[in-house]
Amino acid sequence: MITDSYGRIINYLRLAVTDRCNLRCTYCMPKNGLDWLPRKELMTYEEMLRICSLLVKMGVEKIRITGGEPFVRKDLMPFLQELSAINGLQELTLTTNGLLTAPFVPELKGLGIKTVNLSLDTLDERRFRQISRRDGLDKVLKTLETLLLFGIAVKINAVVMADHNIEDIIPLARLTKTHPISVRFIEEMPFNGGSHTVSLKWDYLRILQHIREHFPDMQKVSDTPHATSFNYHIPGHQGNIGIIAAYSRTFCGSCNRLRITPTGVLRTCLYDAGILNLKDVMRNNGSDEDLHKRVTDAILKKPSDGWEAQQLLAQQKLEHQSMATIGG
Ligand code: SAM
Ligand code: SF4
Repeated sequence: MITDSYGRIINYLRLAVTDRCNLRCTYCMPKNGLDWLPRKELMTYEEMLRICSLLVKMGVEKIRITGGEPFVRKDLMPFLQELSAINGLQELTLTTNGLLTAPFVPELKGLGIKTVNLSLDTLDERRFRQISRRDGLDKVLKTLETLLLFGIAVKINAVVMADHNIEDIIPLARLTKTHPISVRFIEEMPFNGGSHTVSLKWDYLRILQHIREHFPDMQKVSDTPHATSFNYHIPGHQGNIGIIAAYSRTFCGSCNRLRITPTGVLRTCLYDAGILNLKDVMRNNGSDEDLHKRVTDAILKKPSDGWEAQQLLAQQKLEHQSMATIGG
């Protein structure tokens, strides 16, 4: 079991397998994308498997694969297969934009994947194009349908942006009437690779108030331990609604997460700068004991919350990157 200096048990890893993506979401990256990382700077699948196996031995129970868009990286499925076989790993899951995902759903099911997070900020084709700067809503909806057909639980992630998709909040919430899914509205965070400044006009309270105005009988339901979302249910609906105060950072006190970026940087907080490059340790012939010790030391320095992490970032004069280089 790994515990940080505040007594939080760390048992959840989010692993970003690539920074590349087939969308250019406005809240995530600039219009022309990012300067993609050279391939040799990315961790290899072998390196990822090594570090994941070690972290599972140390107490990680759940791994989420993210990116960039995970399905853009070649040979993802054989990697997921090996990952799912790690002894002691209790849950493997992933976050995807759904463009390339549908054909892989039967294989995901075969690997024992029970839940997938699917990003979907609008049900309107024109706004989909405005937000993601690409076409593809039909493919995302196909992925949703296929996941449900194969009995994989779906959590929709919708980032709420003042000038882009406020009119989508209610149609997305209504999806829970006809679909047994969780639709989660996420406050926009300042991780867009410098494309714009985020002034949070729609925080979790305003999002909640807006949904309540349309569904006054919406009820609070209990939140699972370590949940990042406040959860609600509209009577008569099959699914639930969640609101994630990602910018307001209401959930840091029960944070159980670690992140590893595509280049192998361990981040103990979404808002920190990354304090340990695991890939470099491995490429410099570091032993498992070295890795174990360095990870333990890093976790002991995990900041108390995202505000403290952000302050440290500012002191180092470092800026927020694109979410595609962190994994969300
Ligand atoms: N490409 C995949 C996708 O979009 O689902 C996985 C990577 S993406 C970086 C992971 C999650 O981060 C997505 O649900 C996305 O909506 C969310 N995200 C990206 N940028 C964000 C931002 N600036 N604020 C809040 N959430 C963000
Ligand atoms: Fe790509 Fe996901 Fe970022 Fe959108 S949020 S640009 S889909 S990595």
